[in-house]
Amino acid sequence: MFVSTTPYQGPIHVLGAGLSGLAAAILLARAGREVHVHELRADSGARFAGDFQGIENWTSPVDFWAELRAWGIDPDGWKATALREIDLALPGDRIATVKSPRVAFRLVERGTRPHTLDQGLKRQALAAGAHLHYHTRRDRRACHIVATGPRGVTGLVRGELFRTSYPNQVTVQLNDRLAPGAYTYMIVVDGVGLIATVLLRKQRDANRFLDETLAWYHAHYPALDRRTLRRVGGVGSFAVHPRYTLGGRHYVGEAAGLQDCLWGFGIRYAITSGCLAAQALLVGSDYEAAVRRRLVPFQRASLANRWLLNRLGRWGMEGLARLWMWDQERRGDGLPFVSRLYRPSLLHGFLYQTAVRGMLRRRPIEEEEIAVRHLPLAPAKRRDGWAPSAAAREIAAARKVPRATASP
Ligand SMILES: Cc1cc2nc3c(=O)[nH]c(=O)nc-3n(C[C@H](O)[C@H](O)[C@H](O)COP(=O)(O)OP(=O)(O)OC[C@H]3O[C@@H](n4cnc5c(N)ncnc54)[C@H](O)[C@@H]3O)c2cc1C
Repeated sequence: MFVSTTPYQGPIHVLGAGLSGLAAAILLARAGREVHVHELRADSGARFAGDFQGIENWTSPVDFWAELRAWGIDPDGWKATALREIDLALPGDRIATVKSPRVAFRLVERGTRPHTLDQGLKRQALAAGAHLHYHTRRDRRACHIVATGPRGVTGLVRGELFRTSYPNQVTVQLNDRLAPGAYTYMIVVDGVGLIATVLLRKQRDANRFLDETLAWYHAHYPALDRRTLRRVGGVGSFAVHPRYTLGGRHYVGEAAGLQDCLWGFGIRYAITSGCLAAQALLVGSDYEAAVRRRLVPFQRASLANRWLLNRLGRWGMEGLARLWMWDQERRGDGLPFVSRLYRPSLLHGFLYQTAVRGMLRRRPIEEEEIAVRHLPLAPAKRRDGWAPSAAAREIAAARKVPRATASP
């Protein structure tokens, strides 16, 4: 319906006012185009409830903040905390520190509060002259960019937000028991904390894993005073699409299945793909080719990494953590190891083919217009059926006592 090889001059419609949709809207409106963004929910960021997320800075030698500025997006428009150091919980519960002289990642808040990433992008889109329509529905076939976020569940996150007097802290723990197939994390920023577990295997009760994760952090950070605010969470979706432009519509962010299959760092994919789609509409360049060149190789490498880690199980996680620490000691920098892990290589290309056959399932989308290969949640393993500890049972019991809700 819409022509993408020559610049289109009429009004542009974007479906979804999340990260990828707003990034596209900013670039288009700044270039003087009439842009309408149609959002199902009441506001940008309403899918999230104040949870912290990390924006990785290791998949490119160019700092992501510099990339944003080059696109014309001002990264000072929201609150971000740059990190050069995190704790990594190793097997045997030893806690090591991963360090880098450069910014490894930045913490941002998601949601509808003024300092969140979502609201920062929204303000820039409005200032550029984009028209944002909330609580609206529009047929995706009447849109140029589809930015509607995840469809299907590859992984889910369950976390608890709390108030604390604990100093700023980030800990990541690779732990197949507390986070089947994935990892747990604790983030404390300026008096607000989040402890979460990521589940890549289907479980009947995600709270059981979160309660045990909370108990683990209490045992290892005894000075942590946690005053519960609320439980948060959400899902992420990874899929390989045969085409990223369909019927003239550019699919961006998680609507295009663009996600990091290893650890779920989808924000950079979302914003970058939104910018690439806007650029294609502005100058008539080939969005499909740009996504395949810039993002798909990383997406494939992440699937290959995930496949390998699943095969190696908890020993793989332990081996990865040990190798990481050994590499950091040798180089005096913990970031090159992660960069190499994420950088597409011949080995990734080889493993990717096996991973596609073994892990992805064909799934029609858009009223069966197209079949994508989606990564579903893996089935639970027998070892996921452990009994909760006494400390976790106490946390679960306290959770069931009704209490007044508060916002941070
Ligand atoms: C709990 C959790 C923690 C995460 N942590 C991290 C992290 O630490 N680092 C990281 O990089 N990534 C993280 N991610 C992933 C990251 O949040 C996503 O990859 C990113 O938000 C995707 O951006 P998007 O623009 O594709 O979708 P979104 O930002 O979700 O935006 C999609 C928008 O489209 C709207 N929408 C949906 N359907 C329609 C429709 N039919 N019509 C109109 N509007 C519609 C939605 O309401 C939403 O506002 C996390 C995800 C979750 C769930």
